[in-house]
Amino acid sequence: MSNFNEERVVSVHHWTDTLFSFKTTRNPTFRFKNGQFTMIGIPVDGKPLLRAYSVVSPNYEDGLEFFSIKVQNGPLTSRLQHLKEGDPVIVGRKATGTLVLDNLKSGRNLYLLGTGTGLAPFLSLIRDPETYERFEKVVLLHGCRQVAELAYGEMITQELPQDEFLGEEIRGKLIYYPTVTREPFRNRGRITDLIVSNKLGEDIGLPPLSVEHDRVMLCGSPLMLADLKVILEERGFVEGNHGEPGDYVIEKAFVEK
Ligand SMILES: Cc1cc2nc3c(=O)[nH]c(=O)nc-3n(C[C@H](O)[C@H](O)[C@H](O)COP(=O)(O)OP(=O)(O)OC[C@H]3O[C@@H](n4cnc5c(N)ncnc54)[C@H](O)[C@@H]3O)c2cc1C
Repeated sequence: MSNFNEERVVSVHHWTDTLFSFKTTRNPTFRFKNGQFTMIGIPVDGKPLLRAYSVVSPNYEDGLEFFSIKVQNGPLTSRLQHLKEGDPVIVGRKATGTLVLDNLKSGRNLYLLGTGTGLAPFLSLIRDPETYERFEKVVLLHGCRQVAELAYGEMITQELPQDEFLGEEIRGKLIYYPTVTREPFRNRGRITDLIVSNKLGEDIGLPPLSVEHDRVMLCGSPLMLADLKVILEERGFVEGNHGEPGDYVIEKAFVEK
């Protein structure tokens, strides 16, 4: 049996000239945990061209959604960015990844720190009821260069608080903190600097990140991950993984080639 399902594009949304999202149908046999990624792609010259993608949509939804970069000359995304409604997309039958709630010890606050498309896995996690059962506050940081790259901001601030089932939990627990580095905006600066200076804590009214109360998930560029790993480990955070829950977990948003 093939390791892939063929899905169809249901809709496409372009955020900027370097970022877009698309929704597809979902084979009901495809199961995943919120925060996981799978392999997706398109047929090129009769062969599947595949890359890892986090699933944006929560696992209880009928369809699938993905949030994608457009890399100029990127083998997949130079093509994928031209997807239209009805086009076929290949989606792996299995999902995997470390950004799952099971890999974290219990704690008071959950910090989801993402840059660029590293936001993607957190978009399913902030729609998972278990996230709010396990944590008192859920702080979602999204760091980008420009304001236009802060995709999904409206969904997070306008739609989710009105959600029929999760709205009340989200209104009481979810703190969304978008920040940009290259233009004026209400929040500015790199995630690392915001944590080290505790500007973040001051802005959201929570104490500095501590291993005693906080758990962290990281998804971003290899450089951002390396910097944050040092900051967290200096504060005593221990990395978790399958089978051994920890204080923080990491996933690369992409691999530098
Ligand atoms: C675990 C995992 C999950 C991923 N999830 C996503 C996701 O949800 N959305 C997504 O767009 N990509 C994601 N990626 C990256 C994705 O797998 C591809 O690299 C991306 O789609 C580009 O494919 P490509 O063939 O066009 O270029 P590639 O040859 O794969 O990449 C070329 C170069 O482009 C840069 N690049 C690639 N992806 C990104 C990115 N997302 N942001 C910034 N720079 C990038 C890197 O410098 C890379 O070396 C993920 C990667 C990993 C390892």
